[in-house]
Amino acid sequence: SLAGHDLHLSFGANKVLRGVSIDVAAGSTTTVIGPSGSGKSTLLRVLNRLHEPEQGDILLDGKSVLKDDPDALRQRIGMVFQQFNLFPHRTVLDNVALGPWKLKGQSKEAAREVALEQLDKVGLKEKAGSRPGNLSGGQQQRVAIARALAMTPQVMFFDEATSALDPELVKGVLALMADLATGGMTMVVVTHEMGFARSVSDRVLFMDHGSAVEVGPPAALFDDPETDRLKRFLSEVL
Ligand code: ATP
Ligand code: MG
Repeated sequence: SLAGHDLHLSFGANKVLRGVSIDVAAGSTTTVIGPSGSGKSTLLRVLNRLHEPEQGDILLDGKSVLKDDPDALRQRIGMVFQQFNLFPHRTVLDNVALGPWKLKGQSKEAAREVALEQLDKVGLKEKAGSRPGNLSGGQQQRVAIARALAMTPQVMFFDEATSALDPELVKGVLALMADLATGGMTMVVVTHEMGFARSVSDRVLFMDHGSAVEVGPPAALFDDPETDRLKRFLSEVL
């Protein structure tokens, strides 16, 4: 499980997180929704300690991680962003194998085997020898997901993983994410895809102005929002 308790972060005078708490049970998926600038990406970056919270705590399996080496935490959390950030001059296979090889210290051979396995899972084994540039955006994003999974993370973070994709490619990536969720991965998904939030997530967290304004099961938030802020947001995006 992953939890953030009362997380605070400011950039100068801009209070970006104003005491956000999030509780993601092992094997569950929480989606984070909210308007642009509400602090969704910052919440993910604080949870994997790319930014240190000014206040609050982060717990993995019930234990605070704030005193540990931040790199150790980041190896336990897989990240998938809007930009895939694959190495263009490396093969797809090497892109996926690099983490297990360089960061986890596996032999090159073992890392390649793990990479092939993950590529198979995302349906791209036959592209192992290709360069990323020869793949569609959707395929590149699936490679990025395989790359994260090859590190055998405890938790996966997705930040607008489908926002840069052509509309016809979005479905395949969302389907892969849904498969991961139903397969028991623990996930935090920042998304504008309300269909995904409603049908795949166990809990939805609505952020506005750096606060978790509402949190609960999707049916409660989408069908019975409590606050005017969430009502207004839903009327704009649905
Ligand atoms: P979007 O939906 O557009 O991605 P978001 O909810 O992810 O928005 P964040 O990227 O978390 O929002 O940004 C929240 C606020 O923090 C914004 O006001 C943004 O300008 C500010 N911010 C984010 N990162 C930094 C940074 N590195 N330095 C200064 N300000 C930042
Ligand atoms: Mg963002």
